[in-house]
Amino acid sequence: MSAILEPPPRLDELLARSVALHNHLCPRQILGARMGLLAGQALGMAVPRTDKKLMVLAETDGCFADGLSVATGCWLGRRTLRLVDHGKVAATFVEVRTGQAVRIAPHTDLRARVRAGRAEGVKRWDAYMDAYQTWEDQDLFTVMPIRLTLDLAAVISVNGKRAICDACGEEIINEREVRQEESVLCRDCAGQGYWQMK
Ligand SMILES: [Zn+2]
Ligand SMILES: [Zn+2]
Repeated sequence: MSAILEPPPRLDELLARSVALHNHLCPRQILGARMGLLAGQALGMAVPRTDKKLMVLAETDGCFADGLSVATGCWLGRRTLRLVDHGKVAATFVEVRTGQAVRIAPHTDLRARVRAGRAEGVKRWDAYMDAYQTWEDQDLFTVMPIRLTLDLAAVISVNGKRAICDACGEEIINEREVRQEESVLCRDCAGQGYWQMK
């Protein structure tokens, strides 16, 4: 925590990376990138990271999640970002080693304040784009220290764990199998599926 942090990348650099993924820039990407940078400060961690010491729990997908990823270096593909789909433009950032965590969300009145403050003739979209890039962190977001109630170690699991479903024979990694009496089942075969055969 006491180590001197590298200065974080500039917001415009991050947004350029996000635009390269997306072919457009939009308010939610900006919010994601700003939250990711702020999380680095709040947790005393340099961002973006190339290791697995930071876990991001994104509360929605879409453009917002890509903003989070470019700022933090945490990606679904690296197993350092998870979707906890509550349909909110908010995220929790966890220092994996200590469990220290903060949840960052926009102030509930943020959009109303941006709209109310815009000059005559300025479109809402443009007002959001401008405010989200230029306003101070404290005017945009709440940062709440929290304690996770989900088992992060179980979410991360252990590299190399494999099981075979006794019913369908498919391989299951990351300890996502379900044990029922004598059998080892995948979630689909255990009745927790999300699809049916046609
Ligand atoms: Zn977008
Ligand atoms: Zn199965």
